[in-house]
Amino acid sequence: MALTFSVADLTIHRIIEQETTFLPAREMFPELTPEMLDAERSALQAANALDAQDTLILCFQSYVVKTPHHTILIDSCIGNDKPRARPVWNMKTDDTYMRALDAAGMSVDDIDIVMCTHLHTDHVGWNTRRDNDRWVPTFPNARYLFAQREYDYWVAQNAKAEVPPFADSVLPVVEAKRADIVMDDFAIGDHVRLVPTPGHTPGHVAIALGKGKDDAVFAGDLIHSPLQLAYPELSPKFDVDPAQAAVTRRTFLERYGDTATVCCTAHFPSPSAGRIKRKGNGFSCEAI
Ligand SMILES: [Zn+2]
Repeated sequence: MALTFSVADLTIHRIIEQETTFLPAREMFPELTPEMLDAERSALQAANALDAQDTLILCFQSYVVKTPHHTILIDSCIGNDKPRARPVWNMKTDDTYMRALDAAGMSVDDIDIVMCTHLHTDHVGWNTRRDNDRWVPTFPNARYLFAQREYDYWVAQNAKAEVPPFADSVLPVVEAKRADIVMDDFAIGDHVRLVPTPGHTPGHVAIALGKGKDDAVFAGDLIHSPLQLAYPELSPKFDVDPAQAAVTRRTFLERYGDTATVCCTAHFPSPSAGRIKRKGNGFSCEAI
């Protein structure tokens, strides 16, 4: 399993925190019929994306990308010591994530920029770590970039009722003055660009990297499972706007299908990254 690979002048490391069963496929995707699942079951099982009980298998990971100019961490995964509804995420204390960073030859000090595709629990967790009774930025030398539309949405949600991942993994970074709230056409030099991809959340962004062209794109949660390559209109139950998410997913796959761009998904099972190919009315992902 390739944890490190290169694309043009980018070196990409996968930092895996968990790879495990998640939800039954038909619970996660309410519009998935038994017939649709039957048609894809053997391919999904062969890809380790589905177990024998029809439960989806997902990977939870960060990507660290070294460009000629920066070391960028994309999506900070689950985190430790945090109260969460999901038992395997709740108050966990393992060192898997930090060991994976170490195995990639890095420490928290080496990250220049942290970017989050959106502000859900499993994409912001390691933004902060517990320091006695406080949450402090995990990556002491990093600027953290949050998209304005996404940030504003969660400010409003958190004002109605506290959203734990926002309160313990985003706001402390803002309070520590390590955050930059950026517009969704934001770019860093000629290597890093945001790609607005709303639907899963209102301000969700994909992140495209590469000098002047998209050598790699980080899809975040605009897609969760290879099942959605076969059925791009299939939205998971936790998309804020499932109809918009379906349009965004189809548009994204059409844009990158049959191109040289390496698509790095947040949650596909290992190897998680590959090139999107057109296949009938859907798509497939060809591992690199
Ligand atoms: Zn996610």
